[in-house]
Amino acid sequence: MFGANYVDGQWIDGSSAVPDINPSDLDDVVGEFARADRTQAEDAISAATAAQPHWAALPGAARAEILDRAGDELLARADELGDLLSREEGKTLPEGVGEIRRAGQILKFHAGEAVRNPGELLGSVRPGVEILVDREPVGVVTVITPWNFPIAIPAWKIAPALAHGNAVVFKPADLVPASAWHLVDVLVRAGLPAGVLNLVMGSGREIGDTLTGDVRVNAVSFTGSTVTGQRVRESAHSHGARVQLEMGGKNPLVIADDADLDAAVAGAIEGSFGSTGQRCTASSRLIVVDSIHDEFVDRLAAARARIVVGDARHGDTTMGPVADASQLEQDRRYIDLARSQGADVVGGELLDRATPGHYLSPALLIGTRNEDTVNREEVFGPVASVIRVADLDEAISAANDTEFGLTAGIYTRSLAASTRFRKQSTAGMVMVNLPTAGVDYHVPFGGRRASSFGPREQGRDARDFYTSTKTCYVLGDPTS
Ligand code: NDP
Repeated sequence: MFGANYVDGQWIDGSSAVPDINPSDLDDVVGEFARADRTQAEDAISAATAAQPHWAALPGAARAEILDRAGDELLARADELGDLLSREEGKTLPEGVGEIRRAGQILKFHAGEAVRNPGELLGSVRPGVEILVDREPVGVVTVITPWNFPIAIPAWKIAPALAHGNAVVFKPADLVPASAWHLVDVLVRAGLPAGVLNLVMGSGREIGDTLTGDVRVNAVSFTGSTVTGQRVRESAHSHGARVQLEMGGKNPLVIADDADLDAAVAGAIEGSFGSTGQRCTASSRLIVVDSIHDEFVDRLAAARARIVVGDARHGDTTMGPVADASQLEQDRRYIDLARSQGADVVGGELLDRATPGHYLSPALLIGTRNEDTVNREEVFGPVASVIRVADLDEAISAANDTEFGLTAGIYTRSLAASTRFRKQSTAGMVMVNLPTAGVDYHVPFGGRRASSFGPREQGRDARDFYTSTKTCYVLGDPTS
């Protein structure tokens, strides 16, 4: 397929094109996709600026219908588009289909939000005066997304932006344009007026500053690495745009001495190696209390050995390939570094399969310390460290000893231990007897410190970023 950019209601070629390569089979080209240059990015901002007031003036119900229709189509095409997502990004077929379904659910949830008036009517300290606290659209929103959730993350930014009457300029990750292209295609065919949603695929290094630094852009919602996030923040703040950043994680999963070990092992495997470990919410630090450490590690290593690494779309595969060559290189660099800092490495080898791909066996780094580099920096691959601690106190302090703060989990049978962990954790999301990854779409999502900046994403809280508050004082009838 050839995927064009979409600007002001027209599908247009870019200034160049990029092949989308299947990480399970490097000989398989998923398609060619347009790359926008700065001029096209500026045209997209112009189109969004012109279209936004008309879009905002529509009744919420009209915006809701479009989002709902698009959500229906994604749900109906989940198998087909899930296969495409697995082919371009490398997550397994069930994960790919699940992500398309999630995107459909997100669109339908925010269709509901478009008709729910989030304003408030209050009395005043002055007789006869009523106060209306209204929520208005912010205006033009730039949406920039990473490669690891190529449709769910775009959906959870674009849907609330549109629901609340904003116009969007969307730049997906250069690595995974196909899923993003289909999301835009589905929304456009569902009835979006020209200019309301614009797709500019292309390199963030080339067009990122234009998309974030243009004075006509009122808000920027970004998910990606911490380093790029800081740059986006500076560029947007330079002209007073509001910014929402979701960035890295180094999420701890504590295994307490009274944990159900079968459940803890299953949770650690899913949290660490689900989606090939390429999740900001991955359980990358397994913090294990001394008394059960050896038994847990033995069982974990046995479960790791049962993971079937292979072509993402094959039925027996339980972990797909790494997304691209540079991510694979990064994973291997951290594995080597951990080994040189004293870790006992299980797995982490390159694998040959029937087709050329970025295949890496899941790696367990046993005997690491929380201060090791691999436990301070995000790897973003199928690499999990094990950290031995004396007791729950030390576990909680190690869990919180990180510059990140996205999600944190504990496996325990004790209500007291889980309550303590829940209250003392400094992460933005806490899981009890669940992996650190795996979230719902109708509740707030986000972290603290280096993981997140700005209002929460998802659920009803999404409106805090995509709306601007107006407080109106009205003296209608002085006698009432
Ligand atoms: P990057 O930061 O490299 O890229 C993210 C997006 O930013 C891409 O679309 C990229 O474009 C774009 N970009 C690059 N340079 C600029 C720039 N100067 N200005 C504006 N945009 C730019 O992250 P990855 O795509 O590698 O994604 C992985 C990261 O995402 C991980 O660190 C992970 O933790 C994080 N993440 C966070 C989540 C969260 O909710 N906290 C969820 C999922 C992932 P291009 O592709 O062209 O380089």
